[in-house]
Amino acid sequence: MVIFLFYTYLAATKSPRSMKLIDGKAVSEEIKNTLKQDVIDYKNRTGRVPHLAAILVGDNPASKAYVSNKVKSCQQVGFNSTLIKLEEDISEEQLLTHIRELNENPDIDGFIVQLPLPKHIDDVKVTLAIDYKKDVDGFHPVNFGRMAQGLPCYLPATPFGITLLLERYNIETAGKHVVVVGRSNIVGTPMSILMSRKSKTGDATVTLTHSRTKNLAQIVSQADIVVAAIGIPGFITEDMVKEGAVVIDVGINRVEDESTEKGSRLVGDVDFVKVRGRSSFITPVPGGVGPMTVMGLLLNTFKSANKEIYN
Ligand code: NAD
Repeated sequence: MVIFLFYTYLAATKSPRSMKLIDGKAVSEEIKNTLKQDVIDYKNRTGRVPHLAAILVGDNPASKAYVSNKVKSCQQVGFNSTLIKLEEDISEEQLLTHIRELNENPDIDGFIVQLPLPKHIDDVKVTLAIDYKKDVDGFHPVNFGRMAQGLPCYLPATPFGITLLLERYNIETAGKHVVVVGRSNIVGTPMSILMSRKSKTGDATVTLTHSRTKNLAQIVSQADIVVAAIGIPGFITEDMVKEGAVVIDVGINRVEDESTEKGSRLVGDVDFVKVRGRSSFITPVPGGVGPMTVMGLLLNTFKSANKEIYN
């Protein structure tokens, strides 16, 4: 009885020591290893290998780093990859021509256009030009609409990666209050839809918050699970997080740091050092959601190669 009471007390008063780091890097390595074998089997069965292409416009250093990571991951799992680098001043029409070529190329299973695009290019037009059957980033309205209705589709890569993490760490979502901060089309909004749907990592009660939300801190402090996708370093502070909450930090922000060789480092949207003591689970930046976004992309491409979603 005494022992039972002691453990009940421990469970009720989660100390910082009970915080668990959600290791996206390790989970992504596990997925890569499984996928590597699946690709070998696929090749033996079909005589071809899955092929992902990426279009990179301009010289944005962050975009270059993301794309090169995606290419490297393709190599690691045995996919073919094609990188199409275009000048910053390419016209919208020229870019659309490249997209049409990829749409029509039967050797390409899926492709992405790395965002953000230069200001003179309309990214909505670009998203709509991609054949939804090859839209492995899951941004096209056909995939988005199918996701919202719970139909088979390519899930947006980042929310897909987050659901894989929740599953891998057996984080219960049913009946929980999830507060998503940020309503972008690629992270916040689809994440809020996915978690509210009837599914293994859904069935939650979701509040979607954004820049016009009133009493944001108070709403976040009621969350069992916080998903931060804002783009402001350290925006989610210790006082905003309920003791024992699960914290998923999507943000990737570069901040100055003279103590590093580069003079800068990457941080998330959560004040990790302070918030981790209050959370039950938390994703670090880097090494949390980032590597899982790439996994979402690879898994979607493999689904496309297998014609799992569309014929
Ligand atoms: P976005 O800029 O498109 O959207 C930001 C959202 O934050 C907006 O909906 C806005 O309403 C909200 N917001 C801004 N200021 C706010 C405030 N003061 N209070 C409440 N809400 C506020 O951003 P995004 O594309 O969703 O990206 C968000 C962050 O996630 C960025 O740091 C980005 O680099 C990162 N990101 C990471 C990955 C990954 O793989 N880890 C993938 C995509 C984006």
